[in-house]
Amino acid sequence: MIRDALKNEFQKIVGKDNVMTEAAELHAYSYDSAVLDQAQPAVVVRPENSESLGKVVKLCNENGLKLTVRGAGTNLSGGTIPHPGGVVCLTTALDKVLEINEEDLYAVVQPGVVTAKFAAQVAAKGLLYPPDPGSQAVSTLGGNVAENAGGLRALKYGVTKDYVMGVDFFDVNGELVASGGKTVKCVTGYNLAGLMIASEGTLGVFEKIILKLVPPPAAYKSMMAVFPDMMDASRAVAAIIANKIVPATLEFMDNFTIRTIENFRKAGLPLDAAAMLLIEVDGHQAQVEDDAAKVEAICKEHKAVSVRVAKDDAERNAVWQARRDALPALARVRPTTVLEDATVPRSKIPAMMEALGRIAKKYDLTIGTFGHAGDGNLHPTILTDKRDQQEWHRVEAAIDAIFEEALALGGTLSGEHGIGLAKAKYMKNEYGVGAINYSRRMKSVLDPNNILNPGKILGPLLA
Ligand SMILES: Cc1cc2nc3c(=O)[nH]c(=O)nc-3n(C[C@H](O)[C@H](O)[C@H](O)COP(=O)(O)OP(=O)(O)OC[C@H]3O[C@@H](n4cnc5c(N)ncnc54)[C@H](O)[C@@H]3O)c2cc1C
Repeated sequence: MIRDALKNEFQKIVGKDNVMTEAAELHAYSYDSAVLDQAQPAVVVRPENSESLGKVVKLCNENGLKLTVRGAGTNLSGGTIPHPGGVVCLTTALDKVLEINEEDLYAVVQPGVVTAKFAAQVAAKGLLYPPDPGSQAVSTLGGNVAENAGGLRALKYGVTKDYVMGVDFFDVNGELVASGGKTVKCVTGYNLAGLMIASEGTLGVFEKIILKLVPPPAAYKSMMAVFPDMMDASRAVAAIIANKIVPATLEFMDNFTIRTIENFRKAGLPLDAAAMLLIEVDGHQAQVEDDAAKVEAICKEHKAVSVRVAKDDAERNAVWQARRDALPALARVRPTTVLEDATVPRSKIPAMMEALGRIAKKYDLTIGTFGHAGDGNLHPTILTDKRDQQEWHRVEAAIDAIFEEALALGGTLSGEHGIGLAKAKYMKNEYGVGAINYSRRMKSVLDPNNILNPGKILGPLLA
C-alpha cells in the first residue's frame, strides 16, 4: 500500500492516468521473463516526458522508495522484479526517436523506443543498427543498454555496448548527468556512459541514449549445415573461427531443439540430424562468395552430411525463422522453461556441449541446447515443471553445475542476459570478492539509500 500523500505526489508529477495502484495493475508489473518468484510493487508510474522521469527518481529517493525502471520486462534474470512494496517506473511513453543523423552516423533516442521499430527506421534511411536480440519486436533500447543485450549478429558486429556513444541519465537525486557524445572519439572525463551499460537500473535512470549506426553490408549468404554428430558440429564452429572467418551469424541447434521446432512449425528441418549450424556471411559480394565456400568446406571436413545454401530471400527467411522459433517451440513442451546463458571461449564449445550432456544425464533433465555458438554463447534450455519440487531441486543443482562448468572452462556467467537476481549468488565465483566490494562501495556512494533496483547484480549484500 502506498500512502495517499505519496500517491498524490506521483499524480502531480505524471498525471492521474499514469499512476496505477489497482491489484491487477500491480500484478502485471511484478515479474520479468525468467522463472523467479514475483514481487508486487505498491505503485506503478508512467512518466510521459523527461522532466517527470527525473522528478519520479527524486521523489523516490527523498522518501526511501525502492525504484525499478521497466522497459518491456523481457529480461531473463529478474531485473524487473520490483522490490516488494516499491515503485515500478515504466519507460513505455518515452518512445521517441529524436534524431537519425545520416551524415555523422548516429541516432538519439528516448529509452522506451522499441528496438525493432528503431532498427526499421534506421534501415529506411539506408543504415544499419546491428544489435538484434531475439526479443527485439518488443524490447526497448533502454532495456538493451541496461542489459548490454546481444543478438544473432553479435559475432561480427558486436553487442549493444559497441553502439552506445552516450547516455544521459538521472542520478538518484534526479539530477541529469550527460555522458559521451556524438563524436566518433570522446575521452572527456570518466566513461560514465560505459558505467551505465549493463548496470541493470542500479546506478542511474537513462533519459536519452546516443547510438552508433553503420552502413549495411552489400551482400549476404545464409546456409544450413547438417551434422550426424553433435561434437563434429561444435568442432566445426571452433574451426570456422580458427580459420579467421567471422560470419555475421553462426548459430547452433541440437537434435532435441530441431525436432521441437519442426513440431511447432513445419520448416523441413532434418529430424535425424544430431545438430545443425545456421550460418550467415556478409560483406562485399566477392568476400561473401569466398567466405561461404570456405565455411562450406570446413563444415564438410567436419563431417557435415549436407550444407544447404539459401537461394533467395524466402529461403533465407525460412532459415532464420526456424532459429527464431527455437525458444517459443521449446517453451511449449513443459510448463516451466529455464533459459540459461552459459558462455565459454569459442574453442571450448565442444567441451561445454559434452558437459551439458553429462549434466542432463546426471540430474535426469530434458535440456535442449541452441544459441550463438560463434560467440561461445549457448542457451541450454531446461524444460521442467516448477510445481514438481523434487524435479525443481534437480534443476537448481543442474544450473549450479552449468555455471561451475562454464567458469572452469574460462567462460562467464552471462553472455547477454545479465545478472539480475538470478545469478547474483554466483558473482564472486567469477570475479572474486574484490570486484564485489569495489562495486558495493561505488553503489553505496552513488545510491546511499539503495533505492535503485536493489538486490540486482550485487544480491542480498545490499538488498
Ligand atoms: C524471447 C526472448 C528472446 C530474447 N533474446 C535475447 C537475445 O537474443 N539477446 C539478449 O541479449 N537478450 C535477449 N532476451 C532478453 C531481453 O529481451 C533483453 O535483456 C532486453 O535487453 C531487455 O529489454 P527490455 O526493454 O525488456 O528491458 P526490461 O526487461 O524492462 O529491463 C531490463 C533491465 O533494464 C533496466 N532498465 C530498463 N530501462 C531502463 C532505463 N531507462 N534506465 C535504467 N535502467 C533501465 C531495468 O531496470 C532492468 O534491470 C530475450 C528475451 C526473450 C523473452
